[in-house]
Amino acid sequence: MSAVAERVGAELSPAPSLAVPTTLPVASLSTSSIRRFARCPEDWRRHYVEREPEVVRASMLAGHAYGAAIGAAYWARINGAGELAAHDADDLLVSEFAAEVAEAREAGTLAAGEDPAGALEGARAPLRGYLREVAPAVEEPRAIERALRAQFPGAQWSFVGYLDVDCAAVVLDEKLSGSNKWSQRSADRDPQAGFYLLLRSLAGEAAERFEFHVARPGREEIRVISTARTPAQLAHLQAQIALVARRIARAHASGDWGYGTEGWWCSAKWCAGWRRCPAGGGLGLDAENGNDR
Ligand code: SF4
Repeated sequence: MSAVAERVGAELSPAPSLAVPTTLPVASLSTSSIRRFARCPEDWRRHYVEREPEVVRASMLAGHAYGAAIGAAYWARINGAGELAAHDADDLLVSEFAAEVAEAREAGTLAAGEDPAGALEGARAPLRGYLREVAPAVEEPRAIERALRAQFPGAQWSFVGYLDVDCAAVVLDEKLSGSNKWSQRSADRDPQAGFYLLLRSLAGEAAERFEFHVARPGREEIRVISTARTPAQLAHLQAQIALVARRIARAHASGDWGYGTEGWWCSAKWCAGWRRCPAGGGLGLDAENGNDR
């Protein structure tokens, strides 16, 4: 892969396992795109090719607003504006969340039965805890939401990552999650950590490690889970990107995308296309059954 940062790039190396199509039906792939394709190619098509609207949950919007408030705190520090006061960060969280909810309501994409007030409240304590305990200990933050891209030779598409907080030696990612999945084991296997470390390496700025900063709604404690990747693991990730690109190109050419029905995502609750999909609600199940899957 001739990999490239937003400035210039290195290239991903051309081995047989790294053969890629010249074009894809999208301009770029990303960690979330690759995850989505692995779960269900048909859902990937609906989302990235057809651009069908997604249902959003209040907890997702709270996560975005939480990340935006933390990003603003790092931005102030990086740009010499001093520390963002806790009450200013809280104001930012509230206004960002309100804007996101209003936008989702206007677009008709906010999931039914959501509790926006509860989701917002759940983000406030973690933000306090993060700014008090975690942010001050972070060394040499350089950028927030930094975009890094890499390209295979000859490809007209790229692989892109947006780094929450880019530090000299570390890449940080802020999670607000009620899930129990977070552990050292899950971090060591997480594709986002691997892909972002790959992008830093390809940009000629290899990072020592990736840190997940994991908060749970309503709690001030933040768990810091650190993980790293070996050069062999990074090389394997390049091959994974190439493999997914080849599969997408094949599916796009044939029109045979395939369905991924074996998981929580294949349900009326999580898949926006469930009612119309022949492998979901199109089977004739009602929405109630879909929610139970
Ligand atoms: S309903 Fe299931 S099979 Fe159909 S697009 Fe959604 S996740 Fe894929």
